[in-house]
Amino acid sequence: MSSIAERLDTIRERISHAAARAGRTVQEVKLVAVSKTYSAEIVREAVDAGQLCFGENRVQEIQAKQPLLPSKLRWHLIGPVQSNKIRKVLPLVEMLQAVHSLEIAKDIQRIAGDLGLIPRVLLEVNLAAESTKHGFAPDRLARLLDELYSLDRLQIEGLMCIPPFDLDPEKSRRYFARLREIRDELEKIGGAPLPELSMGMSHDFEAAILEGATFVRVGSAIFGERNAIKKPL
Ligand SMILES: *Cc1c(COP(=O)(O)O)cnc(C)c1O
Repeated sequence: MSSIAERLDTIRERISHAAARAGRTVQEVKLVAVSKTYSAEIVREAVDAGQLCFGENRVQEIQAKQPLLPSKLRWHLIGPVQSNKIRKVLPLVEMLQAVHSLEIAKDIQRIAGDLGLIPRVLLEVNLAAESTKHGFAPDRLARLLDELYSLDRLQIEGLMCIPPFDLDPEKSRRYFARLREIRDELEKIGGAPLPELSMGMSHDFEAAILEGATFVRVGSAIFGERNAIKKPL
């Protein structure tokens, strides 16, 4: 079994390869190491190998791990945030990557105002209208854009997606291209830049980079397979 440091190295190499193939610089692609379900001790191995940005999908897990790890780390919430967790999570994270509804965006606006914060956020897009997934329908997002932009506490930096799972990255690639096109369209409609595209996971991050990903969210390829049964920390 290779170590976390070795696997991180491999991922970084694959990222720079994919970036080069896409004619992009490697700095344009930021690696979010998805540490959900892994202990602080395991996260520390990645930190020792130079990884500073981590993704979690549960607020409780961020709260539990953060005190055990260096304060220089940057945390992204990559799962949808529930209303009653916004106040807790805002001070803890660098970015909310999966803002999935207007209602939640309004709640973030209000609470960020209370806390004096201007959170960086991405809007999650439900590309294939999957009922099991969160996110804005693309056409609805276009209609809501003005209202979202009126929420002046939110720094809306781009879009995020989790396409339907397919082992074949070429299938995912169509969805990644689609997210980029939606972004381009929204930039025209809204007249504001949306530079960030968070897309691509362990099995398809290279396809995502070829289509313009600026954040790739990689978990199991770094930390190993997660247990099917969620263990507490
Ligand atoms: C778990 C998760 C990932 C990472 O998945 P891997 O297949 O382990 O790389 C990425 N994005 C989101 C939103 C996740 O929940």
